Amino acid sequence: SVKPVTITITGAGGQIGYALLFRIASGAMLGAETPVRLHLLEIPQGVRAAEGAALELQDAAFPLLHGVEVFDDPASAFQGTEIAMLVGARPRTAGMERGDLLAANGGIFGPQGAAINAGAADGIRVVVVGNPANTNALIAASHAPDVPADRFTALTRLDHNRALGQLAATLGAQVGSLRDVTIWGNHSATQFPDVSHATIDGESVPALLAARLGGVDTAKEWLVDTFIPRVAKRGAEIIEVRGSSSVASAASAAIDHVRDWVHGTENGWTSAAVVSDGSYGVPEGLVSSFPVESVDGAWRIVQGLEVDAFAEHRIAASVAELVEEREAVRALGLI
Ligand code: NDP
Repeated sequence: SVKPVTITITGAGGQIGYALLFRIASGAMLGAETPVRLHLLEIPQGVRAAEGAALELQDAAFPLLHGVEVFDDPASAFQGTEIAMLVGARPRTAGMERGDLLAANGGIFGPQGAAINAGAADGIRVVVVGNPANTNALIAASHAPDVPADRFTALTRLDHNRALGQLAATLGAQVGSLRDVTIWGNHSATQFPDVSHATIDGESVPALLAARLGGVDTAKEWLVDTFIPRVAKRGAEIIEVRGSSSVASAASAAIDHVRDWVHGTENGWTSAAVVSDGSYGVPEGLVSSFPVESVDGAWRIVQGLEVDAFAEHRIAASVAELVEEREAVRALGLI
């Protein structure tokens, strides 16, 4: 029998947690052969909600679920964990300065990084969902000096999946036939969703867009004025239409991220924010989104892609924001 995998989910009493837990326990993330043990971490105010979710997990009688425990202290919650999904974060509230937001999150992600360093399993993989996700991942990694930096990642898969959805709808194609879309940079409004290398059934997406939208110039306009902002601001659109935030799609993307990391990517690349090795001029050490493949259980940045002047400009703008965030958390003594 396969040994259960221990997964720690922070903010497990929150909305994304609620959408994540049942899919993980059903086998949607690690597969139908892999039993799981769930460690739910919450702040004291969130513990009852996490306990309630744990009761419901029991009631769902998932054969793959070999245990659920609720914690309010990171040291115990990360003990022996193999996959950490860091969802709980301090949300930005009205009138909050950016420095306050970063400081509040430093107080969460610093201690969690230290607890991962002290107690997690050797093969630990971390994905940060809670915003500002890239910089929260940077803070956690910097408090885990004994864990290889490539084990810390932040989620841009939701942005990636949103881009696939928009392209498929516009081109009348199935998402499954789309390959090689990239999200570059920060999981924020400055992100750059890049379709320049994308294909559908082997045909170039830019060429298909030009054919459908009436020429190369209109296609370019559509990308700049419609596609890029729609992907980057999709969260606000969901809030407006649905009346609350995009919880299920965020949870689904987090599951896609971990599944591909563990089991590998097929049919081209995906997007994830990983610690930069300097590729594509992104300063080393920043947690930035790249085109990535998962090979032998590790993310690898896809190398050698041509980056035109427009893309270079967009990537640089988002990376500049990440550099600013890094400087701000450095100045606050958080890294
Ligand atoms: P959600 O579960 O809806 O969101 C959690 C985090 O995910 C937020 O930082 C949110 O960012 C982020 N996020 C990323 N992508 C998305 C997306 N597409 N749509 C919505 N959110 C996204 O928040 P809740 O308030 O329901 O739950 C948070 C829980 O975390 C609470 O139970 C709280 O007690 C807990 N918490 C736990 C901590 C811990 O374990 N140490 C620390 C802090 C909080 P954004 O705010 O930008 O929307």
